[in-house]
Amino acid sequence: MYLPILLTLFGFVFSVPLTSEDLRNDDLQARYVLPGESMPTLYDVQLYLDPNNDVSFDGHVSIRILPFRRTEELVLHAMETIINSIEVLGDNGENIFRTYTLSTFDTHLLRIRLNRLIDPMIPLTINIAYSGTYAENLFGVYLSTYRNENNGRTERVITSQLQPTFARRAFPCYDEPHRKAVFRTTIYAPVEYPVVRSNMPKRTETDQLKPDVPGWIKHEFQDTLVMSTYLNAYLVSNFSYISNEDDEIFNVPFKVYSRPGTQEHAKFALEFGQKNMVALAEYTEIPYEFPKLDKVAVPDFAAGAMENWGLVIYREVALLLQEGVTTTAIRQNIARIITHENMHQWFGNEVSPLSWTFTWLNEGFANFFENYATDLVLPNFRMMDQFVLQMQGVMQNDAVLGVNPMTYPVFTPSQILGTFNAVAYQKSGSVIRMMQHFLTPEVFRKGLSIYIKDNARGAVGPSHLYAALQHALDESTHRVPFPLVDILNRWTNQGGFPVITVRRSSPQAQSVSVSQQRFLTDSTLSSNDRWHIPVNWVLSTDVDFEDTKPGFWISTGATATAIDIPGLSEAEWFIFNKKRTGYYRVNYNVENWMALAKVLNEAHETIDLLNRAQIIDDSFNLARNGRLNYVHPFEISLYLIKEKDYIPWASANTVFNYLDIVLSGSEVYDLFQYYMLNITAPLFEELGFNADDHEEHVLAFHRNNILNINCRHGNDVCIERAQELLQSFRNDPSELRNRIKWSFFFLLSVLILNVLTKSLSIEKSLSALHLTDTSLPKSKTLQLDGPEVISDSEIRTFKSDVVVNARSSNEAVYTEDANIALINSTRSLRRNIRPGQIIQNYSVKIAFDGDTFNGEAVIDVLFDSTEDPLIFHLEALDVHEVRTGLSTPEEALPTDFNPEDGTLEIFLDGGGRHRVVVIEYSGEISNFGNGIFQGSFNDYQYIIINLFPTNARRVLPCVDELTAATSISFTFEDVPFDEIVSNSRKEDDDSNQFRALNVPPNLWGMVAHNFVSVGMPTTNVVLYGRSNLNQHNLASVAINAFMAAFNEKLDKAYFNIDENQDGRMHIFALPDTNVEWNALSTVCIWEPYIFMTNTHSMMQQKTALVKIAEAMARQWFGYLVYPEDWKDQWVISGLASYAALEVVTDFQSSDDEDISLLDMNTIFTTDVIQEALLLDSYSSAVVISPEDDMFDEVDIRRHILGLLKIKAPAILRMLRFVLSGEDDFILKAGQALLNRRFVTPISMFDFFTFVDDTIEDDNIDIWDFVQPWVRNTGYPVLHVAWTSANAVLLTQGHFSLAGGGDVRYKIPVTFTTNRDQNYGDMHPTMMMESTDLMPLPFTLEDDDYIIFNLQGQGYYRVNYDVEHWDRIISALDDPERRQEIHPLNRASLIDDALNLARAGTLDYDVALRLTLTWAHETEYGPWKAFVRNMDFLKKMLFSADESDIYVRMVQRTVETFENKVSFSPDLSDNEPAMTSLTRGIVMDHACRSNYDPCIAAAIDWFYDTNSEEPAVNPRVPVDIQPAVFCTMVRETGAEATDLLYVYLETDISLYDRLVVLESLACSNDEEFINQLMMDTISEDSPFGIEERSIVLAAIIRSGLDNVFRVLDFMQSNTNDIRDMYGGPQKLEELLYILGDNILNGDLEYNLRMWIRLGNDLHESEGIAESALENAQVNLEWRERSLEEVSTWIQENDAHTAIVSFTLLFFTVLVSLFNL
Ligand SMILES: [Zn+2]
Repeated sequence: MYLPILLTLFGFVFSVPLTSEDLRNDDLQARYVLPGESMPTLYDVQLYLDPNNDVSFDGHVSIRILPFRRTEELVLHAMETIINSIEVLGDNGENIFRTYTLSTFDTHLLRIRLNRLIDPMIPLTINIAYSGTYAENLFGVYLSTYRNENNGRTERVITSQLQPTFARRAFPCYDEPHRKAVFRTTIYAPVEYPVVRSNMPKRTETDQLKPDVPGWIKHEFQDTLVMSTYLNAYLVSNFSYISNEDDEIFNVPFKVYSRPGTQEHAKFALEFGQKNMVALAEYTEIPYEFPKLDKVAVPDFAAGAMENWGLVIYREVALLLQEGVTTTAIRQNIARIITHENMHQWFGNEVSPLSWTFTWLNEGFANFFENYATDLVLPNFRMMDQFVLQMQGVMQNDAVLGVNPMTYPVFTPSQILGTFNAVAYQKSGSVIRMMQHFLTPEVFRKGLSIYIKDNARGAVGPSHLYAALQHALDESTHRVPFPLVDILNRWTNQGGFPVITVRRSSPQAQSVSVSQQRFLTDSTLSSNDRWHIPVNWVLSTDVDFEDTKPGFWISTGATATAIDIPGLSEAEWFIFNKKRTGYYRVNYNVENWMALAKVLNEAHETIDLLNRAQIIDDSFNLARNGRLNYVHPFEISLYLIKEKDYIPWASANTVFNYLDIVLSGSEVYDLFQYYMLNITAPLFEELGFNADDHEEHVLAFHRNNILNINCRHGNDVCIERAQELLQSFRNDPSELRNRIKWSFFFLLSVLILNVLTKSLSIEKSLSALHLTDTSLPKSKTLQLDGPEVISDSEIRTFKSDVVVNARSSNEAVYTEDANIALINSTRSLRRNIRPGQIIQNYSVKIAFDGDTFNGEAVIDVLFDSTEDPLIFHLEALDVHEVRTGLSTPEEALPTDFNPEDGTLEIFLDGGGRHRVVVIEYSGEISNFGNGIFQGSFNDYQYIIINLFPTNARRVLPCVDELTAATSISFTFEDVPFDEIVSNSRKEDDDSNQFRALNVPPNLWGMVAHNFVSVGMPTTNVVLYGRSNLNQHNLASVAINAFMAAFNEKLDKAYFNIDENQDGRMHIFALPDTNVEWNALSTVCIWEPYIFMTNTHSMMQQKTALVKIAEAMARQWFGYLVYPEDWKDQWVISGLASYAALEVVTDFQSSDDEDISLLDMNTIFTTDVIQEALLLDSYSSAVVISPEDDMFDEVDIRRHILGLLKIKAPAILRMLRFVLSGEDDFILKAGQALLNRRFVTPISMFDFFTFVDDTIEDDNIDIWDFVQPWVRNTGYPVLHVAWTSANAVLLTQGHFSLAGGGDVRYKIPVTFTTNRDQNYGDMHPTMMMESTDLMPLPFTLEDDDYIIFNLQGQGYYRVNYDVEHWDRIISALDDPERRQEIHPLNRASLIDDALNLARAGTLDYDVALRLTLTWAHETEYGPWKAFVRNMDFLKKMLFSADESDIYVRMVQRTVETFENKVSFSPDLSDNEPAMTSLTRGIVMDHACRSNYDPCIAAAIDWFYDTNSEEPAVNPRVPVDIQPAVFCTMVRETGAEATDLLYVYLETDISLYDRLVVLESLACSNDEEFINQLMMDTISEDSPFGIEERSIVLAAIIRSGLDNVFRVLDFMQSNTNDIRDMYGGPQKLEELLYILGDNILNGDLEYNLRMWIRLGNDLHESEGIAESALENAQVNLEWRERSLEEVSTWIQENDAHTAIVSFTLLFFTVLVSLFNL
């Protein structure tokens, strides 16, 4: 039987409660199953069937039976039958009938009592005369009507459907499938219904057995072969037929009966049906054994069709096909149903099930072969490809705990009807397909042939099948490690199916571990069911999907099994379950899902299309119940943009239908719709509305899906076109029907369901369309046409079922994940500038011409409509001409355009959705690091393209957005230098055309230059710069080490980033440009950050190592993965800095004893964490993770070049310790991101997902933890208060210098005490939520203290109650005990105390007392924190003319430092690097504070005692040069500046030059400073571009008087500064520095007036406002705290000033003598 409506019937599967099942089954068996006291051998049935009598029919049955035991009762079935008489006759004619009962219940038992005991094995004959009733529900013998097309009259027809339990309704019988017999049928019918058929041909004239009856025409049929009752069938009609008499394909008489006038439509059935029978007979190696085969099309039929042996009856739409009208879906269904019924002639008819418990033995095979054997005749239908879709559909339903297994005992008629469900059909078909593949197709075929031969005319259970298959298997060379019965019993006796989880433990592993679990949609449920699972796999290194034999069997025992897979470690990805032949799902470790997403997005055709479908279906369904993060399936689904094939798309359609339902009404539904429209855009374009006559069979379905998605989700083109079609249909239904023949019904349903009348029922919609009065099928028929067309009520039921299921189960949780994943995936499709416009590729030609360039951009663009212009970003370019064409640039014609407001609009006319756009333009080459710029330094010149972050629009018209990655290629012409490199290889050696890369425009770069190669730090890494520099090799050594370290740590080798990349890494030391840069293969670093002399300072080394590492890290985090929106840059930038720090740390810690190495942990804490904590508390701080997408250039600049560069790595560092375990999960997640796809945009949430996927312990919700930090400025302050000697109360507040903020954080708390002194473990002991009382593991005594935030790694501050501060201060003030506290905590203590005091939350008394303990301090970390924060007090006191007061603080604190470290180090000593670094910063601070001994030392150092003429001492230790030079310039004015200018002319490095220039800025000489400032903007400025802003910044920092001068200068020369310093960003940096140094009201007024009263700040005005706010916060402090600080210092003063004066005198004298 073929059942087309699965949704409705499927309900039966669940209808029997599972409780006390066995008990009930015994009971049911006793009640419903025939007792088996006798069996029939021959039925002689006479039926009087008169269509004109629509109530009942008369019948007589004579049953020859054989009793099996002594009995007085015979039991058989009869239903809705009036018994007129019964005889039970022995062969001697004795009637032993006594009485009978006929059950009125659904047992339908007819019990015939005999008047004596009968003996076994002595045949009897039962004669029953009866009246039957025509069935109203179409099950049984029934009467129906149809419209005669020829005469318009209503005609009648009698036919039958006896399966499964309705033969008893036609005649009393033993109505169980295994009670087979021979049937002899005679039908008496009226003369006007001459076409009467049954299973067998009619008897000949000479072979008549029955008498004629007046008024009836007798139709006497030959005896059947032995068969089951349910296979009987009848037709009484006036139908016509066509036959194979004249053209025999199949060697058995074959006829197709149907309503008169429809014979033309039966031709397909006739031809295909025969071909199919031939193929099946060949396949089974068993002939069709009946002497004829009729196919009948009846208009009203319950099933789709019924396989009655020799007389197969179909619903009309399942057999008749109208060329030009019938849809592809129906045509396919017809072929499929014919094949289904044909195969039943063997599976079902020859071999029948013992009972309906084994319905699947019939329907499973019919289901499998309806596809397999349709393909044998019509391979272009791709039925076995489509089979996978069917299987995926049934897996949805088979994933609930209560689902019944394939073999499931049934007894009652309704239970029996219920077995005709998706389990018996689709699931069993799927398991059978799995058998075919694990046995191999030939063993399978052989086994089936044996099965049928051995059991022909018999009835079987599954064991017969297994035995036959085993037989065939044993005869073959193929091996299966378990008995088939063991394997198959699990699959047939257990409901559901497994999901296997395949994990590769490490990239090096040569084996995977595989475990199985029952797959249940509700993942809160579980089951112990296990299966023997055949598995096979494909490795990326050996892509063979064809051999579907198992490579391994997963057994039912072990929880996880290891499978050795040679070559696995070389494979980037692997796929289990080739061609999805196994009936199970596959889950993988996340890395493999990522790798699959990658290969799909890069080259999806590498993967077999059925596995593409599998990956879509599995991944979304695994995500649906939380087995996989939705990020992965969505990432996979992005590949669909390139997918053309129907099968993967149909899989996607199903999973998206589910999401459509559960997301509808949610806030992301818009995004969902947007996503759907975008990923279908190329196909919508390609498939359109009109079918090609010769197109692929499945394209019709494909088009339906794509149109459905587009019309449903609001594609205007789709809706308009649909409405047009609908209108023309209203006007002329028949005309339209012809025009859109490809999908007539379906188009209607698309229109009806999705476009116009979403709320109407199908019937109403049809009537609205005037459909009811046409010859179209009635709605009932419409819904039966095929699985794709279901009624709206079914849709509604289905929808609500899914929604209810999703909402009631834990799926809702994962739906949230889907929301997030969807938002991510949708973003990557979003293009802000012009939604609906997709760039296919750019081909850009740039020709250089002096200071200008000419460009030609050829852009291949898709768009949604020509009504809106195309829009590109465009800045500072002159567009000369725009041409557009339909396919090639050559045929492009001039087109209107409008360059305006940073965009270029291009107006199209005509239709289509695709253009080739050619834009001719020109631009100027700039002189600083944006867009195309040129630089020169002495003899060295270069032209560079740097498009980061939003400068692509200054080089070519483009969509200058991160999400607009597309293929871009560049060609450069008339390049004034021989050397030119870019991201990719050149296409050939002769031109400067570079290969295309698939990236957003801003990731491109180019360097054309005449630098020389100054080294090759490692293979294929070339370092370029000016030649003949006295360069120390440290940079090369570092580059070498970093390259190796990145390759290893990031698990993605640099040279594997892109196959088209240049293949080398070109590192340029640019003498005068310092810009951030993310282009591949080219790394530009400012020369002072890379070239070091032999005597370089530790300060330079520290900076350079980090800068080099960061620049290199951006090849991975910046290029290989980049943010999908600038708001996500914090993750990228953070990861780059984080990874850079890791490699520098390793580089500097190769040898613990080596004093020349830098302590990077300390440097990170002070330079990154504490610096970020300071800037993050300013009012100018911006959140590092804004909620909204960023498009504005100024916002982007301010965001990505600001605080996030240090706050992001600081947050990541904290997160690292929060994620428990030794492993570095930040780096691991980073690796995962890098290995995700090729060049790929990521969001913050991707990163979290990868961290989530990486960490074993997922107690922490990362977003929940991180959110308060990244979505706010400022951070928490942890308040610690004693409650007793062994407990502290922790409370939290929000910290910001600007005040305000009420954000609650989860604070990772670490602590130690003086008794414990464990500063090493920085993993939090607890997460503080709001208020926590923390009992301490110790009882603390009076002097004891506790320190929170170990090593200052948490991004927060700590405040203690005063008593506790006092204890800490006492400890710090004791030189012995001070050392107990980790130097980084000493640094944190002072950093926290001074900032808390600055913010007004701690008394300055405490903070300053703490400060005084620095009298014992010599280490870098504590001093760095001291200097950073005390500098603020210094500036404030100086600005209030209280410089003499501040210097006393210096006097009180540098004592030990002076003694132990000294301002006058012994040059012969080889001292630790960190000591030199410390001296540099302490001395700079002390000298700037007018601390006399420092000044004396500076003077002492400055002059060259070996020189006749006054000259700068070349032996000034490099780390104190800044202090010495600055001091001298300030103290001696022109004398020192003159000498320094001379020194500048000597051969010093650019870094040393910077030191000198910054020192010049220390001058107090107004004239000198003004000149210096003017020099920075003069036409022939003596300073390089980068030097200019550095000089001005140094002037601002040098003192209050100079701040006034700078403010004046900046106000008057704003435009020049912007032009000469390198663009607005340099101006903005200076504005911030200026704001930070606005220390009194006059300055604040001046700044405010500048901003308010007309200015040239332009786009930077907002930044100036924010700098002004910082200034105002400073002034508030001044009001509040200046006097307090000043007074405190005076009151706590010590008297060391005189000593230092004496010293000064002495030193000066020495200096003078030396002269
Ligand atoms: Zn069937």
